[in-house]
Amino acid sequence: MELSLQQGRCEGYGLCEEAAPTVYRLPDDSDVELLYTTVPEELATEAAAGARACPVAAIKLSR
Ligand code: SF4
Repeated sequence: MELSLQQGRCEGYGLCEEAAPTVYRLPDDSDVELLYTTVPEELATEAAAGARACPVAAIKLSR
């Protein structure tokens, strides 16, 4: 599963990190960071939950 972020859409709400802290990180002074671009299968459910939590649909997942 591939993960990408549309940086221009991210508003820094942090809901992705809240839902999936092993996949997304939001530093205090920076934009959200993807901890994986290719998500290991065992983290796929968590990655998808984080993407769904984003209110501005900034996170894209693809197979
Ligand atoms: S939930 Fe969406 S808008 Fe908020 S930090 Fe994550 S990617 Fe950015």
